Amino acid sequence: MSTLVEKQQELINKAMFGECGSNGVYARTELFEQVINGLSRVITRHREPNTEVLRFPPVMSRSQLERSGYLQSFPHLLGAVSCLAGDEAQVRATVERPDWPTQLSPTELVLSPAACYPVYPLAAGRGPVPARGLLFDVASYCFRHEATHELGRFQSFQMREYVCIGAPAMVLDFRKRWITRGGDLAKQLGLDFTIANASDPFFGRAGRLAAMSQLEQALKFELLVPVRSAEEPTACMSFNYHLDHFTGAWQLSSENGTTVHTGCVAFGLDRLALALFAKHGVDPREWPTEVRRNFPFDEI
Ligand code: ATP
Ligand code: ZN
Repeated sequence: MSTLVEKQQELINKAMFGECGSNGVYARTELFEQVINGLSRVITRHREPNTEVLRFPPVMSRSQLERSGYLQSFPHLLGAVSCLAGDEAQVRATVERPDWPTQLSPTELVLSPAACYPVYPLAAGRGPVPARGLLFDVASYCFRHEATHELGRFQSFQMREYVCIGAPAMVLDFRKRWITRGGDLAKQLGLDFTIANASDPFFGRAGRLAAMSQLEQALKFELLVPVRSAEEPTACMSFNYHLDHFTGAWQLSSENGTTVHTGCVAFGLDRLALALFAKHGVDPREWPTEVRRNFPFDEI
């Protein structure tokens, strides 16, 4: 099993990223972004029919995120957009102050913590969910105020997701299909992986209970790949069943009044790229033939 020894990690840090003066925030090299594009294409190849494609900016509505319950569950990860307010003289005076950041005013925007959050209010705004359910393909740059910055844990990273909104059995079936398909995709990329029951990084003491309950109900699975080490594999995909969390918040209902639930499968594109480099080396031209056959690097 290939793990990332220190020397290799150094190489990846040098070859893949440029430092941006902040922990967990990097400039991506052309090569890294080409691999991200290749991964995006592989994920698109697995897209189910009748899936609506939406690409979101890296910011979203603060009130929508509040209504989604994010502040209760993950306040420690949230980043919000603040700006300078006032007339020209006030703004000039403020930026002269060394403590100018204390003068920032909140805006209506937060940094999106996951690609799927904006899709639930958007779907709710269109009226009842049809009996055949709804499928979305979404992506955005995400921000999380992470406490640690080991390799693979960024503050700013690219997330791609497929989302299902429909009857509970439909959502569970969607997730089951994607757990299998996610494994197939990892195999096509020549990655070693395990799939395990997991929990979200909920905040505080109440959060520990929420995480336990999530594990008990098997609401989240992760596809884990040995990127930094085999002992602490990295979550590169997650398969989530939200029950009525989002449908309750957004009063998403079905045409005939039956229960509607949601689920999503999320791909951490940067982590998948790192996993490929860790396993096959930093030069995609030297990756195994079988992997190259499945990976559209030459098309980019
Ligand atoms: P972790 O357990 O590693 O903190 P998570 O459970 O919070 O991850 P999800 O909310 O399920 O992750 O996010 C979906 C996917 O996004 C993850 O499987 C991972 O691949 C990617 N991801 C999450 N957080 C980060 C991060 N800080 N940097 C890079 N990728 C991330
Ligand atoms: Zn999601």
